[in-house]
Amino acid sequence: MAKRQERMYIGGEWTTTVDTFPDYNPSDGSVWANMPDAGVAETRAAIEAAHAAFPEWAAMPFNKRSHLMIKAGEIFESRRAEIAEVIQNEGGGWFGKAMFETGYTAEIFPAAAAANYDSIGEVLPSEYGKLSMAVRRPMGVVSVISPWNFPLILSARGFLFPLVAGNTIVLKPSEDTPYLGGLLFAEVFEEAGLPKGVLNVITCSRDNVAAVGDELIENPHVKGVSFTGSTPVGRLIAAKAGAHLKKCCVELGGKNSMIICDDADLERSAQAANFGAFMHQGQICMSVERVIVHEKIYDKFVKQFLERVRKLKVGSTTEKENVLGPVINDRAADRLQAQFDDAKAKGAKVLVGGEIDGRYVSPTVFSGVTPDMLMYQQESFGPVCSIFKARNDEEAIRIANDSEYGLTAGVMTEDEGRGLAIVNQLDTGNCHVNCSPVNDEPHVPFGGFKASGSGKHGGRWSMETFTETRWITMERGGRGFPPVF
Ligand code: NAD
Repeated sequence: MAKRQERMYIGGEWTTTVDTFPDYNPSDGSVWANMPDAGVAETRAAIEAAHAAFPEWAAMPFNKRSHLMIKAGEIFESRRAEIAEVIQNEGGGWFGKAMFETGYTAEIFPAAAAANYDSIGEVLPSEYGKLSMAVRRPMGVVSVISPWNFPLILSARGFLFPLVAGNTIVLKPSEDTPYLGGLLFAEVFEEAGLPKGVLNVITCSRDNVAAVGDELIENPHVKGVSFTGSTPVGRLIAAKAGAHLKKCCVELGGKNSMIICDDADLERSAQAANFGAFMHQGQICMSVERVIVHEKIYDKFVKQFLERVRKLKVGSTTEKENVLGPVINDRAADRLQAQFDDAKAKGAKVLVGGEIDGRYVSPTVFSGVTPDMLMYQQESFGPVCSIFKARNDEEAIRIANDSEYGLTAGVMTEDEGRGLAIVNQLDTGNCHVNCSPVNDEPHVPFGGFKASGSGKHGGRWSMETFTETRWITMERGGRGFPPVF
């Protein structure tokens, strides 16, 4: 099959660059498409186009912007089957992941459209009898940088809300999924009739990303930054945005725990842990990386859990029965190999899996992982989790909180009061009783604590993040001035 030659979308025009970079299919290492490799000049052009389009877009009645969003959502929905195939090829995702991701993404369009009908402010009391208002308005150009693991959801969550609120967008998807995370959305919105320049999509290689990223933050026309990705890059982005006093929302990595209490439904717990740890090869920011089990039910749970893990098939995602495809690239496989070697050398035990063959990693469960190991400290972001035995709820909470991350958690118990008591002591932005930590919906406040990020995405929280709140008053005769003036 001939390779696809992709173009970028700037100011409503499809453009290319002299340099291109390969976009690989992680299942077989073949080049899936050639992508334009933007530099600072193209980034600046995209920002200029977004800046020029802003006044008209912001002035368009809110319901008209929402209607366009609904139309784009319908176009996306009509292309679902074709997009699912690209998720298998460009993204190395299993068919089930593709169905889930396309279904979820289709929900973000109406959620964003609906968010525009919510209140844009409040009327405040005034000690002088003024009409005193807190009113939100769009900011201007918002830069959106997204990751590869759920490229549709995370790009859509990052830019649909700011867009519908009246901002204009420059979207830079990951170099591992530049089509799914970016160019696909340009196609959809072009077909929906979005005015030129309102959405711009640039693609670049890892070699150019530092310079492109700097421009996406520092350019004076850029007023806000939405970043989803790893903690080390997120720290850089937040620091740069801070230096330029720009609003910035960073959604970062996780080291998420699932606590199984002694009164939990073990069958459901084993299934939730298996899904949470291994869905999409564990490459979800919310993936279960620590399973913390009460000592009374430890042996029984581990038996049931491992039985389920052993049934997961690994291989090319062109075959539907391979629930686990490859990890995204060789760097990811190398990081996992280093964590496995370190854990084994320091005394951890492999209960199942442990094999790495190129980018294919078998679902792996370790026990005996201790705080001095890389596996304990670092986000694995692969098909691996560690099992811990806890004497009581306090010890389980201590192990769950013993991490620099604080994204999400799950607590399994038949006693909802006990579940909530545990939740109240966990330092995570998201928490789920009787479910896996892997949960997300378009209208909820999604975001992490500690090194997992700062700021919230989702529904009205996105609208607040990507608008400016102003204080406006109207004097009605109640406020005098000292007579000397
Ligand atoms: P990454 O940080 O390597 O890349 C994310 C994005 O940042 C990509 O588009 C990349 O090109 C860009 N980037 C890299 N260096 C940059 C720089 N110097 N300046 C500007 N942009 C730069 O992360 P990734 O490997 O794509 O994604 C995996 C990570 O994302 C994991 O840590 C995962 O936990 C996290 N994640 C978090 C959430 C969340 O909502 N909290 C969701 C998904 C993924």
